[in-house]
Amino acid sequence: MNDPRAILSEVFGFSDFRPGQEDIVTAVAEGRDVLAIMPTGGGKSLCYQLPALLGHGVTLVISPLIALMRDQVRALQEAGVAAGALTSGNTEAETDAVWRGLHDGSLRLLYMAPERLASGGMDRMLNEAGIARIAVDEAHCVSQWGHDFRPDYLRIGKLRQALDVPLAAFTATADAETRAEIVERLFAGREPVQFLRGFDRPNIHLAFRPKDQPRRQILDFARARKGQSGIVYCGTRAKTEGLAQALSQDGHPACAYHGGMEADQRRAVEGRFAREDGLIVCATVAFGMGVDKPDIRWVAHADLPKSIEGYYQEIGRAGRDGAPAETLTLYGPDDIRLRRIQIDEGLAPPERKDADHGRLNALLGLAEALGCRRVQLLSYFGEEAAPCGNCDLCDRPPETFDGTEAVRMALSAILRTEEYFGAGHLIDILTGTMTDKIRQRGHDSLPTFGVGKAHGKKHWQGIFRQMMGHDLVRPDAERHGALRMTHAARPILRGEASIDLRRDALQARDRPAVKTL
Ligand code: ADP
Ligand code: ZN
Repeated sequence: MNDPRAILSEVFGFSDFRPGQEDIVTAVAEGRDVLAIMPTGGGKSLCYQLPALLGHGVTLVISPLIALMRDQVRALQEAGVAAGALTSGNTEAETDAVWRGLHDGSLRLLYMAPERLASGGMDRMLNEAGIARIAVDEAHCVSQWGHDFRPDYLRIGKLRQALDVPLAAFTATADAETRAEIVERLFAGREPVQFLRGFDRPNIHLAFRPKDQPRRQILDFARARKGQSGIVYCGTRAKTEGLAQALSQDGHPACAYHGGMEADQRRAVEGRFAREDGLIVCATVAFGMGVDKPDIRWVAHADLPKSIEGYYQEIGRAGRDGAPAETLTLYGPDDIRLRRIQIDEGLAPPERKDADHGRLNALLGLAEALGCRRVQLLSYFGEEAAPCGNCDLCDRPPETFDGTEAVRMALSAILRTEEYFGAGHLIDILTGTMTDKIRQRGHDSLPTFGVGKAHGKKHWQGIFRQMMGHDLVRPDAERHGALRMTHAARPILRGEASIDLRRDALQARDRPAVKTL
């Protein structure tokens, strides 16, 4: 059988390819070097399993997840495909069967964990086995600055050179640095054909809102979707419990889920969520990996996710069935401060911290976007798109204004106080508000004192949030989160660049003008 479409239906039981699959299958079958980037659930495994059944030789599949490998091998065997795995969990009989299959040339797919490449004689054995190509799953594990770095992945590049066979690498991680690292380390710089497909999830409505009264905002969002299954992602375990309780009091079936709960409690929530209609789970990011519910109608973020990849993955749990689904992501200056400080205080090497700040910046850019969110989100993943008509900014384009003057006032207040204060005190200076702290420090005699009093505090809070969002200022972990100016702000301060800001986010909405703290 040498017709891909016939194999697709007869072996795999699918009537058609998913977006991107056919092109990738063709390129892999033609023996080209391939780097394919597809979102989780996009159907990557078919792209190396199907070509393995065309032509001769064994396809060596390197994958970091033993459980997943075993699942795939079992499924392939059930479909009548000669597949086997060499993993630490093997029985002797399984291992023997693999060797036999390699020896007599009947084996089509050999799965291996990367650690195995380190064992003695493996290169020679693979050389004799007649490996036709290498397929690498989760190829981003080769990236040292990513989150899943596996040192053993670095052996794959050498193995490819030793065997001199084509290599097909697969990942869902699409940022440009990771892609470049994969090319360098797995292909030794030899340019593979790249495929990037299927990141758009057009049925998911995208929306961001600055935090105003966060609990109220989540309750309102849930109330408008009563009876629908949803997930509220929270930044802390305590918040998952608090919000689940508030939602229950509001008449929704709701429960909490986080890594601090007993395993059987967690499983119970997962089971209920899968079975019941209309349950709301308030969860940390621990919830989701094993959740395969097609009809989740909405996902809300009560706190800003960690990165643009995290955001994409979490909202992507909604609407797997293709029917309309909605999302809402709340964010505020405290989230931005927290995320920055988490990165700075982490143990990662400096290069990785820079990359993490970059991923956070990409998410903040999306939060403060002035045009279609989907265009911006997909462009991060390398895909082009037209304005979508299914995000809050397409629904209602934001009003913008030239914020250059306001930003310069704020930067000037920061510099004149030697980058030692947080937004609250800086806003008191700008609005000319007399407080004890102002008096003690003599800040009422600064030239910037009161220069921004034409606007209220709320207005200035919006400006500071957007300045953080555009990475013009960053909180300094060593100075209790005091704001410091970044390089990006210099051209604005010097009058060489201007900046447009959103006006909509600045107006007090459904809330009294004075907030009691
Ligand atoms: P990934 O590795 O990209 O996360 P998988 O390869 O595990 O995704 O595929 C995700 C799901 O999609 C699996 O259940 C798989 O059986 C299914 N799938 C893959 N290709 C097709 C197809 N052409 N038609 C229908 N279902 C498919
Ligand atoms: Zn849009």
